[in-house]
Amino acid sequence: MLAHTIKEVREQVKKWKQEGLSVGLVPTMGALHAGHLSLVEASVGKCDKTVVSVFVNPAQFGPNEDFDKYPRTLEEDVRMLSGRDVLIFAPSAEEMYPSSELAKQVPLPAQGESVDFALIRHCEEGVSPMRQSSKSTALTGLLRRLLCKLLAMTKQHKMDNSPQNNAVSFNLSTFLSSTFVVPPRFYTDKLCGKSRPGHFDGVCTVVAKLFNIVQPDYAFFGEKDRQQLIIIQKMVKDLNIPVEIIACPIVRGENGLALSSRNKYLKNKEEALVLNKVLLNIKACYDNGIVDVESLTETAYSFLNKNHSLEYLEFRDKDDLEIKKIADGNTIVFIAVKIGEVRLIDNLLLESS
Ligand code: AMP
Repeated sequence: MLAHTIKEVREQVKKWKQEGLSVGLVPTMGALHAGHLSLVEASVGKCDKTVVSVFVNPAQFGPNEDFDKYPRTLEEDVRMLSGRDVLIFAPSAEEMYPSSELAKQVPLPAQGESVDFALIRHCEEGVSPMRQSSKSTALTGLLRRLLCKLLAMTKQHKMDNSPQNNAVSFNLSTFLSSTFVVPPRFYTDKLCGKSRPGHFDGVCTVVAKLFNIVQPDYAFFGEKDRQQLIIIQKMVKDLNIPVEIIACPIVRGENGLALSSRNKYLKNKEEALVLNKVLLNIKACYDNGIVDVESLTETAYSFLNKNHSLEYLEFRDKDDLEIKKIADGNTIVFIAVKIGEVRLIDNLLLESS
């Protein structure tokens, strides 16, 4: 079953709930592989009904990231899920983020103009329909603050109005007037969030929207994106969202490489094995009694060569992401490496063996 609109999903879920059936949600960005399918299996095993969302969420991509290039393979995804009793929800970006009247009033940058400049111009000009009452002055102030926040988030944006930039244009004009879910900075200013400012705001926003659309009893997330999992667990707790988050283990290829939709862009898969090799070596050292994080970190360097650009290798607590100086059974080792243009992440919990 394939649905493209929120209305269709809501109607279907309503029927299921009236029948007393439990509902599981598996949020994905598509380009499905065995890692995603393990989440689907977990949901189908636990819940009466499963919704798999397939949506490349523009709100979680930064200006210089691979939103345009991200693989979109809906036909193949539907084929992979056929034979499984699931509802696939594949909305358009407009369905998930409809532009409001306010968004339409915010100008996109003119040819060659930077977004910074267009927003500053807009802040200075104000939004004309809102200038008319004292109540609207407060609103304009609010809007101004919102714009300035967005300005900070988009400060590297430089763009023209060429068709290739449509996706980014959509991003800006729509998000100017959308409500965002902003998880605590303590959780998002580190690891992946450090090089991807605003990424987890986009993730939490779309996941919260999916929770509101599907109203699942359970939602399934992979430990592959461990920081994301921890942040979503925190959001659910803090916002009292009535859903239970189920964490699913990382699915790897035979060679140990964690499956990822981005693996298909790797020119040399061998180089990508470095992430798992580093993690396994750290685990072996830890199992042999080395707990000093500085020493454990040093063991990684013998595996890295000029083709690996190490973004981070960090030891953090599995619940609150606090940094660890001494490794223990609650420590997760996080690694991110760029291999050519492809950025890969992996992690490992140092459970006591
Ligand atoms: P994505 O489509 O990359 O946003 O991933 C959708 C969900 O699948 C997320 O919860 C990921 O953590 C999970 N996932 C992706 N790759 C894997 C994997 N190799 N093993 C387990 N879960 C995965």
